[in-house]
Amino acid sequence: MSETAAQVGVAAEAVAARFEELYGAAPEGVWAAPGRVNLIGEHTDYNDGFVMPFALPHATVAAVSRRTDGVLRLHSGDVGGAPVELSLDDLAPESDRNWTAYPAGVVWALREAGHAVTGADVHLTSTVPTGAGLSSSAALEVVIALALNDLYDLNLKGWQLARLCQRAENVYVGAPTGIMDQTASACCQEGHALFLDTRDLSQKQIPFDLAAEGMRLLVVDTQVKHSHSEGEYGKRRAGCEKGAALLGVDALRDIAYDDLEAALARLGDEEEVRRLVRHVVTEDQRVEKTVALLESGETRAIGPVLSEGHASLRDDFRISCPELDLVVDTALSSGALGARMTGGGFGGSAIVLVEAEDEAAVTKAVEEAFAAADFTAPRVFTAVPSAGARRVR
Ligand code: ADP
Ligand code: MG
Repeated sequence: MSETAAQVGVAAEAVAARFEELYGAAPEGVWAAPGRVNLIGEHTDYNDGFVMPFALPHATVAAVSRRTDGVLRLHSGDVGGAPVELSLDDLAPESDRNWTAYPAGVVWALREAGHAVTGADVHLTSTVPTGAGLSSSAALEVVIALALNDLYDLNLKGWQLARLCQRAENVYVGAPTGIMDQTASACCQEGHALFLDTRDLSQKQIPFDLAAEGMRLLVVDTQVKHSHSEGEYGKRRAGCEKGAALLGVDALRDIAYDDLEAALARLGDEEEVRRLVRHVVTEDQRVEKTVALLESGETRAIGPVLSEGHASLRDDFRISCPELDLVVDTALSSGALGARMTGGGFGGSAIVLVEAEDEAAVTKAVEEAFAAADFTAPRVFTAVPSAGARRVR
Protein backbone atom coordinates (compact mmCIF):
# COMPACT_ATOMS: atom_id res chain seq x y z
CA MET A 1 0.00 0.00 0.00
CA SER A 2 1.33 3.45 -0.89
CA GLU A 3 1.77 6.02 1.84
CA THR A 4 -1.25 7.92 0.55
CA ALA A 5 -3.47 4.87 0.58
CA ALA A 6 -2.33 4.19 4.14
CA GLN A 7 -3.20 7.77 5.17
CA VAL A 8 -6.68 7.50 3.68
CA GLY A 9 -7.09 4.17 5.49
CA VAL A 10 -6.31 5.85 8.81
CA ALA A 11 -8.71 8.70 8.01
CA ALA A 12 -11.43 6.20 7.09
CA GLU A 13 -11.24 4.59 10.54
CA ALA A 14 -11.43 7.94 12.30
CA VAL A 15 -14.26 9.20 10.11
CA ALA A 16 -16.27 6.01 10.72
CA ALA A 17 -15.72 6.33 14.49
CA ARG A 18 -16.85 9.96 14.52
CA PHE A 19 -19.90 9.05 12.42
CA GLU A 20 -20.88 6.51 15.06
CA GLU A 21 -20.51 9.10 17.83
CA LEU A 22 -22.70 11.57 15.94
CA TYR A 23 -25.41 9.26 14.68
CA GLY A 24 -25.35 6.32 17.12
CA ALA A 25 -24.56 3.55 14.62
CA ALA A 26 -21.65 2.58 12.39
CA PRO A 27 -21.79 3.90 8.79
CA GLU A 28 -22.66 1.57 5.94
CA GLY A 29 -19.41 2.57 4.27
CA VAL A 30 -16.65 5.15 3.84
CA TRP A 31 -15.63 6.78 0.53
CA ALA A 32 -12.82 9.12 -0.54
CA ALA A 33 -12.64 11.61 -3.40
CA PRO A 34 -9.50 13.66 -4.15
CA GLY A 35 -8.76 17.25 -4.96
CA ARG A 36 -6.93 17.88 -8.21
CA VAL A 37 -4.26 19.90 -9.89
CA ASN A 38 -4.61 20.86 -13.52
CA LEU A 39 -1.31 20.19 -15.27
CA ILE A 40 -2.29 22.22 -18.33
CA GLY A 41 -5.49 23.39 -20.06
CA GLU A 42 -6.79 26.39 -18.10
CA HIS A 43 -10.12 28.06 -18.86
CA THR A 44 -10.58 25.70 -21.80
CA ASP A 45 -13.28 23.53 -20.21
CA TYR A 46 -16.16 25.92 -20.82
CA ASN A 47 -14.91 26.38 -24.39
CA ASP A 48 -15.41 22.67 -25.18
CA GLY A 49 -11.61 22.27 -25.15
CA PHE A 50 -8.95 20.06 -23.60
CA VAL A 51 -7.78 19.78 -19.98
CA MET A 52 -5.26 17.58 -18.24
CA PRO A 53 -5.73 17.29 -14.49
CA PHE A 54 -4.36 14.71 -12.09
CA ALA A 55 -5.64 13.74 -8.66
CA LEU A 56 -3.89 14.76 -5.45
CA PRO A 57 -3.30 12.53 -2.44
CA HIS A 58 -5.42 15.08 -0.55
CA ALA A 59 -8.98 13.84 -0.33
CA THR A 60 -12.38 14.32 1.23
CA VAL A 61 -13.37 11.23 3.21
CA ALA A 62 -17.06 10.65 3.96
CA ALA A 63 -18.86 8.07 6.10
CA VAL A 64 -22.40 7.60 4.84
CA SER A 65 -25.52 5.56 5.65
CA ARG A 66 -28.88 5.49 3.89
CA ARG A 67 -32.14 6.76 5.40
CA THR A 68 -35.65 6.00 4.24
CA ASP A 69 -37.49 8.99 5.73
CA GLY A 70 -36.57 11.79 3.29
CA VAL A 71 -34.10 13.37 5.70
CA LEU A 72 -30.50 14.37 4.91
CA ARG A 73 -28.16 14.95 7.86
CA LEU A 74 -24.81 16.54 7.07
CA HIS A 75 -21.79 17.04 9.29
CA SER A 76 -18.31 18.28 8.39
CA GLY A 77 -15.55 17.79 10.92
CA ASP A 78 -13.87 20.82 9.34
CA VAL A 79 -16.83 23.07 10.15
CA GLY A 80 -17.93 21.57 13.47
CA GLY A 81 -21.19 22.18 15.32
CA ALA A 82 -24.13 19.79 15.24
CA PRO A 83 -25.22 17.96 12.08
CA VAL A 84 -27.38 20.07 9.76
CA GLU A 85 -30.74 18.41 9.10
CA LEU A 86 -32.50 19.00 5.78
CA SER A 87 -35.72 17.63 4.32
CA LEU A 88 -35.28 16.32 0.77
CA ASP A 89 -38.60 17.87 -0.24
CA ASP A 90 -37.30 21.32 0.70
CA LEU A 91 -34.13 21.16 -1.44
CA ALA A 92 -34.23 24.00 -3.96
CA PRO A 93 -31.56 25.64 -6.15
CA GLU A 94 -29.71 28.60 -4.61
CA SER A 95 -31.63 28.24 -1.34
CA ASP A 96 -28.51 27.55 0.74
CA ARG A 97 -25.44 29.81 1.07
CA ASN A 98 -23.54 27.41 3.38
CA TRP A 99 -21.16 24.53 2.74
CA THR A 100 -24.13 22.15 2.96
CA ALA A 101 -25.27 23.38 -0.47
CA TYR A 102 -22.58 21.22 -2.13
CA PRO A 103 -23.65 17.82 -0.73
CA ALA A 104 -27.35 18.77 -0.69
CA GLY A 105 -27.00 19.86 -4.31
CA VAL A 106 -25.70 16.43 -5.26
CA VAL A 107 -28.70 14.75 -3.61
CA TRP A 108 -30.98 17.24 -5.38
CA ALA A 109 -29.32 16.56 -8.76
CA LEU A 110 -29.59 12.79 -8.32
CA ARG A 111 -33.29 13.05 -7.45
CA GLU A 112 -33.91 15.49 -10.32
CA ALA A 113 -32.38 12.90 -12.66
CA GLY A 114 -34.93 10.37 -11.40
CA HIS A 115 -32.80 8.39 -8.96
CA ALA A 116 -34.71 7.21 -5.89
CA VAL A 117 -32.48 8.56 -3.12
CA THR A 118 -34.52 8.62 0.09
CA GLY A 119 -32.09 10.22 2.55
CA ALA A 120 -28.68 9.87 4.13
CA ASP A 121 -26.57 10.52 7.20
CA VAL A 122 -23.16 11.96 6.34
CA HIS A 123 -20.02 12.81 8.28
CA LEU A 124 -16.95 13.95 6.39
CA THR A 125 -13.57 15.56 6.73
CA SER A 126 -11.05 16.71 4.15
CA THR A 127 -7.34 17.22 3.65
CA VAL A 128 -7.95 19.27 0.49
CA PRO A 129 -7.24 22.94 1.30
CA THR A 130 -10.39 24.97 0.59
CA GLY A 131 -10.34 27.90 -1.81
CA ALA A 132 -6.76 27.13 -2.89
CA GLY A 133 -7.68 26.22 -6.47
CA LEU A 134 -7.31 22.51 -5.67
CA SER A 135 -11.02 21.83 -5.95
CA SER A 136 -12.19 20.97 -2.49
CA SER A 137 -15.72 21.65 -3.77
CA ALA A 138 -15.53 18.89 -6.40
CA ALA A 139 -14.00 16.47 -3.87
CA LEU A 140 -16.95 17.18 -1.57
CA GLU A 141 -19.53 16.68 -4.33
CA VAL A 142 -17.95 13.58 -5.83
CA VAL A 143 -17.50 11.76 -2.51
CA ILE A 144 -21.23 12.17 -1.82
CA ALA A 145 -22.23 11.16 -5.34
CA LEU A 146 -20.08 8.02 -5.28
CA ALA A 147 -21.32 7.00 -1.82
CA LEU A 148 -24.97 7.34 -2.87
CA ASN A 149 -24.24 5.63 -6.21
CA ASP A 150 -22.90 2.60 -4.32
CA LEU A 151 -25.45 2.58 -1.49
CA TYR A 152 -28.46 3.02 -3.76
CA ASP A 153 -27.11 0.75 -6.54
CA LEU A 154 -27.45 3.49 -9.15
CA ASN A 155 -24.75 1.99 -11.42
CA LEU A 156 -23.66 5.39 -12.72
CA LYS A 157 -20.23 5.70 -14.32
CA GLY A 158 -17.59 8.19 -13.18
CA TRP A 159 -18.30 10.65 -15.98
CA GLN A 160 -22.04 10.51 -15.21
CA LEU A 161 -21.42 11.23 -11.54
CA ALA A 162 -19.20 14.12 -12.61
CA ARG A 163 -22.02 15.56 -14.77
CA LEU A 164 -24.48 15.38 -11.85
CA CYS A 165 -21.95 17.03 -9.53
CA GLN A 166 -21.34 19.80 -12.04
CA ARG A 167 -25.11 20.37 -12.19
CA ALA A 168 -25.21 20.50 -8.39
CA GLU A 169 -22.50 23.17 -8.36
CA ASN A 170 -23.86 25.20 -11.32
CA VAL A 171 -27.56 25.09 -10.52
CA TYR A 172 -27.91 24.30 -6.82
CA VAL A 173 -24.89 26.11 -5.38
CA GLY A 174 -25.03 28.70 -8.16
CA ALA A 175 -21.31 28.62 -9.07
CA PRO A 176 -20.52 28.56 -12.81
CA THR A 177 -17.83 25.91 -13.23
CA GLY A 178 -16.87 23.60 -16.08
CA ILE A 179 -16.74 19.80 -15.99
CA MET A 180 -13.02 19.34 -15.31
CA ASP A 181 -12.89 19.33 -11.52
CA GLN A 182 -15.62 16.78 -10.96
CA THR A 183 -14.34 14.51 -13.74
CA ALA A 184 -10.82 14.64 -12.33
CA SER A 185 -11.99 13.74 -8.85
CA ALA A 186 -14.21 10.93 -10.14
CA CYS A 187 -12.02 9.43 -12.88
CA CYS A 188 -8.29 10.01 -12.29
CA GLN A 189 -5.93 7.07 -11.79
CA GLU A 190 -2.80 6.79 -9.67
CA GLY A 191 0.40 7.57 -11.62
CA HIS A 192 -1.52 9.19 -14.48
CA ALA A 193 -2.81 12.51 -15.71
CA LEU A 194 -6.24 12.54 -17.33
CA PHE A 195 -6.49 13.91 -20.87
CA LEU A 196 -10.11 14.99 -21.11
CA ASP A 197 -11.97 16.32 -24.11
CA THR A 198 -14.64 18.44 -22.45
CA ARG A 199 -16.83 18.39 -25.59
CA ASP A 200 -17.59 14.68 -25.71
CA LEU A 201 -16.07 13.76 -22.31
CA SER A 202 -13.79 11.19 -23.93
CA GLN A 203 -10.82 10.42 -21.70
CA LYS A 204 -7.35 9.04 -21.95
CA GLN A 205 -5.13 8.13 -19.01
CA ILE A 206 -1.61 9.44 -19.70
CA PRO A 207 1.23 7.87 -17.66
CA PHE A 208 2.70 10.64 -15.50
CA ASP A 209 5.12 9.20 -12.98
CA LEU A 210 7.57 12.02 -12.34
CA ALA A 211 9.31 10.38 -9.39
CA ALA A 212 10.40 7.48 -11.60
CA GLU A 213 12.07 9.98 -13.95
CA GLY A 214 13.83 11.98 -11.24
CA MET A 215 11.48 14.96 -11.25
CA ARG A 216 8.99 16.51 -8.85
CA LEU A 217 5.92 18.66 -9.29
CA LEU A 218 5.55 21.21 -6.53
CA VAL A 219 2.25 22.84 -5.66
CA VAL A 220 2.67 26.30 -4.18
CA ASP A 221 -0.51 27.48 -2.46
CA THR A 222 -0.14 31.26 -2.33
CA GLN A 223 -2.79 31.41 0.43
CA VAL A 224 -4.43 34.19 -1.58
CA LYS A 225 -8.13 33.28 -1.58
CA HIS A 226 -9.94 33.44 -4.88
CA SER A 227 -13.44 34.00 -3.45
CA HIS A 228 -13.72 37.47 -5.02
CA SER A 229 -13.01 36.07 -8.47
CA GLU A 230 -16.48 34.83 -9.43
CA GLY A 231 -17.38 38.03 -11.27
CA GLU A 232 -14.11 37.97 -13.19
CA TYR A 233 -14.69 34.31 -14.14
CA GLY A 234 -18.13 35.23 -15.46
CA LYS A 235 -16.64 38.07 -17.52
CA ARG A 236 -14.02 35.80 -19.11
CA ARG A 237 -16.64 33.18 -19.85
CA ALA A 238 -18.97 35.73 -21.43
CA GLY A 239 -16.05 37.13 -23.46
CA CYS A 240 -15.21 33.67 -24.80
CA GLU A 241 -18.86 33.12 -25.77
CA LYS A 242 -18.85 36.47 -27.54
CA GLY A 243 -15.70 35.46 -29.41
CA ALA A 244 -17.28 32.19 -30.54
CA ALA A 245 -20.41 34.03 -31.67
CA LEU A 246 -18.40 36.64 -33.61
CA LEU A 247 -16.42 33.88 -35.30
CA GLY A 248 -19.52 31.83 -36.08
CA VAL A 249 -18.53 28.67 -34.16
CA ASP A 250 -20.28 26.74 -31.39
CA ALA A 251 -17.28 27.11 -29.08
CA LEU A 252 -13.69 28.37 -29.29
CA ARG A 253 -12.59 24.74 -29.44
CA ASP A 254 -13.66 24.86 -33.08
CA ILE A 255 -10.95 27.37 -34.01
CA ALA A 256 -7.97 25.31 -35.17
CA TYR A 257 -4.54 26.51 -34.05
CA ASP A 258 -3.49 26.95 -37.66
CA ASP A 259 -6.46 29.26 -38.25
CA LEU A 260 -5.78 31.44 -35.20
CA GLU A 261 -4.18 34.37 -37.01
CA ALA A 262 -7.04 34.56 -39.50
CA ALA A 263 -9.58 34.38 -36.66
CA LEU A 264 -7.82 37.17 -34.76
CA ALA A 265 -7.81 39.32 -37.89
CA ARG A 266 -11.55 38.81 -38.25
CA LEU A 267 -12.11 40.07 -34.69
CA GLY A 268 -10.79 43.47 -35.78
CA ASP A 269 -10.69 45.99 -32.94
CA GLU A 270 -12.37 43.70 -30.35
CA GLU A 271 -9.08 43.77 -28.42
CA GLU A 272 -10.30 42.08 -25.24
CA VAL A 273 -12.07 39.29 -27.11
CA ARG A 274 -8.96 38.79 -29.26
CA ARG A 275 -6.84 38.22 -26.15
CA LEU A 276 -9.31 35.70 -24.70
CA VAL A 277 -9.55 33.82 -28.00
CA ARG A 278 -5.76 33.73 -28.36
CA HIS A 279 -5.38 32.23 -24.90
CA VAL A 280 -8.01 29.53 -25.38
CA VAL A 281 -6.81 28.43 -28.82
CA THR A 282 -3.12 28.35 -27.87
CA GLU A 283 -3.93 26.64 -24.57
CA ASP A 284 -5.76 23.79 -26.32
CA GLN A 285 -2.68 23.38 -28.46
CA ARG A 286 -0.45 23.32 -25.35
CA VAL A 287 -2.54 20.46 -23.93
CA GLU A 288 -2.14 18.45 -27.12
CA LYS A 289 1.58 19.20 -27.14
CA THR A 290 1.90 18.07 -23.51
CA VAL A 291 0.11 14.80 -24.25
CA ALA A 292 2.39 14.16 -27.24
CA LEU A 293 5.53 14.90 -25.21
CA LEU A 294 4.50 12.68 -22.31
CA GLU A 295 3.53 9.84 -24.64
CA SER A 296 6.90 10.01 -26.37
CA GLY A 297 8.78 10.07 -23.06
CA GLU A 298 10.02 13.67 -23.42
CA THR A 299 8.75 14.65 -20.00
CA ARG A 300 11.30 17.40 -19.32
CA ALA A 301 10.20 19.18 -22.48
CA ILE A 302 6.77 19.94 -20.99
CA GLY A 303 8.46 22.53 -18.72
CA PRO A 304 8.54 25.37 -21.29
CA VAL A 305 4.96 24.51 -22.36
CA LEU A 306 3.78 25.06 -18.78
CA SER A 307 5.66 28.37 -18.59
CA GLU A 308 4.14 29.56 -21.90
CA GLY A 309 0.74 28.70 -20.45
CA HIS A 310 1.43 30.99 -17.52
CA ALA A 311 2.43 33.88 -19.75
CA SER A 312 -0.78 33.45 -21.70
CA LEU A 313 -2.93 33.44 -18.54
CA ARG A 314 -1.06 36.48 -17.22
CA ASP A 315 -0.91 38.61 -20.37
CA ASP A 316 -3.87 37.50 -22.50
CA PHE A 317 -6.42 36.07 -20.08
CA ARG A 318 -5.28 38.44 -17.29
CA ILE A 319 -6.19 36.31 -14.32
CA SER A 320 -2.85 36.03 -12.53
CA CYS A 321 -1.88 38.08 -9.48
CA PRO A 322 1.44 39.32 -8.04
CA GLU A 323 1.82 36.30 -5.76
CA LEU A 324 1.33 33.78 -8.59
CA ASP A 325 3.71 35.70 -10.86
CA LEU A 326 6.30 35.78 -8.10
CA VAL A 327 6.15 31.99 -7.69
CA VAL A 328 6.61 31.46 -11.41
CA ASP A 329 9.36 34.07 -11.92
CA THR A 330 11.31 32.93 -8.85
CA ALA A 331 10.99 29.24 -9.68
CA LEU A 332 12.18 29.75 -13.26
CA SER A 333 15.11 31.94 -12.26
CA SER A 334 16.22 29.39 -9.66
CA GLY A 335 16.35 26.44 -12.01
CA ALA A 336 12.82 25.04 -12.39
CA LEU A 337 12.00 23.28 -15.68
CA GLY A 338 8.66 25.08 -15.93
CA ALA A 339 6.00 26.78 -13.82
CA ARG A 340 2.52 28.21 -14.10
CA MET A 341 -0.51 29.25 -12.14
CA THR A 342 -3.19 26.56 -11.97
CA GLY A 343 -6.92 26.78 -11.37
CA GLY A 344 -9.29 29.67 -11.84
CA GLY A 345 -6.83 32.46 -11.09
CA PHE A 346 -6.59 35.56 -8.87
CA GLY A 347 -4.81 33.55 -6.21
CA GLY A 348 -4.89 29.89 -5.35
CA SER A 349 -1.95 27.74 -6.40
CA ALA A 350 0.90 27.53 -8.87
CA ILE A 351 2.68 24.38 -10.03
CA VAL A 352 6.42 24.07 -10.52
CA LEU A 353 8.20 21.26 -12.38
CA VAL A 354 11.70 20.65 -11.01
CA GLU A 355 14.51 18.13 -11.15
CA ALA A 356 14.35 16.16 -7.89
CA GLU A 357 17.74 17.52 -6.79
CA ASP A 358 16.54 21.12 -7.24
CA GLU A 359 13.37 20.72 -5.17
CA ALA A 360 14.78 22.09 -1.92
CA ALA A 361 16.59 25.04 -3.53
CA VAL A 362 13.56 26.12 -5.60
CA THR A 363 11.26 25.82 -2.58
CA LYS A 364 13.63 27.91 -0.48
CA ALA A 365 13.94 30.56 -3.21
CA VAL A 366 10.15 30.90 -3.46
CA GLU A 367 9.75 31.11 0.32
CA GLU A 368 12.46 33.76 0.56
CA ALA A 369 10.96 35.78 -2.30
CA PHE A 370 7.57 35.78 -0.52
CA ALA A 371 9.18 36.91 2.73
CA ALA A 372 11.09 39.67 0.92
CA ALA A 373 7.88 40.87 -0.76
CA ASP A 374 6.05 40.81 2.59
CA PHE A 375 3.50 38.26 1.26
CA THR A 376 1.91 35.62 3.51
CA ALA A 377 4.17 32.55 3.57
CA PRO A 378 3.13 30.05 0.87
CA ARG A 379 2.35 26.41 1.53
CA VAL A 380 4.50 24.17 -0.65
CA PHE A 381 4.00 20.46 -1.15
CA THR A 382 4.95 17.76 -3.66
CA ALA A 383 2.04 16.55 -5.78
CA VAL A 384 2.03 12.83 -6.49
CA PRO A 385 -0.55 11.77 -9.13
CA SER A 386 -3.00 9.77 -7.03
CA ALA A 387 -6.17 7.71 -7.26
CA GLY A 388 -9.59 9.09 -8.11
CA ALA A 389 -12.75 8.57 -6.04
CA ARG A 390 -13.17 5.15 -4.46
CA ARG A 391 -14.72 3.22 -1.58
CA VAL A 392 -12.21 2.90 1.25
CA ARG A 393 -14.17 0.92 3.86
P1 ADP B 1 -12.03 25.17 -4.17
O1 ADP B 1 -12.93 24.20 -4.84
O2 ADP B 1 -11.01 25.76 -5.09
O3 ADP B 1 -11.40 24.63 -2.92
P2 ADP B 1 -14.51 26.58 -3.84
O4 ADP B 1 -14.84 27.96 -3.43
O5 ADP B 1 -15.01 26.09 -5.16
O6 ADP B 1 -12.93 26.41 -3.71
O7 ADP B 1 -15.10 25.57 -2.76
C1 ADP B 1 -14.79 25.75 -1.37
C2 ADP B 1 -16.04 25.57 -0.56
O8 ADP B 1 -16.43 24.19 -0.54
C3 ADP B 1 -15.86 25.93 0.91
O9 ADP B 1 -16.06 27.31 1.11
C4 ADP B 1 -16.96 25.09 1.56
O10 ADP B 1 -18.22 25.71 1.43
C5 ADP B 1 -16.98 23.83 0.71
N1 ADP B 1 -16.13 22.78 1.30
C6 ADP B 1 -15.07 22.18 0.74
N2 ADP B 1 -14.54 21.24 1.56
C7 ADP B 1 -15.29 21.24 2.68
C8 ADP B 1 -15.27 20.50 3.91
N3 ADP B 1 -14.34 19.57 4.15
N4 ADP B 1 -16.22 20.77 4.82
C9 ADP B 1 -17.15 21.70 4.60
N5 ADP B 1 -17.21 22.43 3.48
C10 ADP B 1 -16.32 22.22 2.52
MG1 MG C 1 -14.25 24.64 -6.44
